[in-house]
Amino acid sequence: MRNKTIMKRRALRSINALFRRADTIFEETPELADRYAQVARRISLRCRVRIPKRWKRRYCKKCHKFLKPGINARIRLRNKKIVITCLECKNIVRIPYKN
Ligand SMILES: [Zn+2]
Repeated sequence: MRNKTIMKRRALRSINALFRRADTIFEETPELADRYAQVARRISLRCRVRIPKRWKRRYCKKCHKFLKPGINARIRLRNKKIVITCLECKNIVRIPYKN
């Protein structure tokens, strides 16, 4: 039980670190950022750890690319929803939010 908790905490830390790194290097090497995002996703699936909300929107579920608003993603607020458009594959994700 305790091991599991430690494992999950470690997994979450890795996911955060990978996304943070992806965010930093994205403009220089977007392919590498995509790789980091994919590795982070694999960890999340394998360890059954949810990807933190702030990073969830930074990743396209459809084309598996790391998204950077203003570069390859467009974020709009509409009808109390966050509308995220992936400019790589034109996939649109709507997330409801409370104000
Ligand atoms: Zn996409």
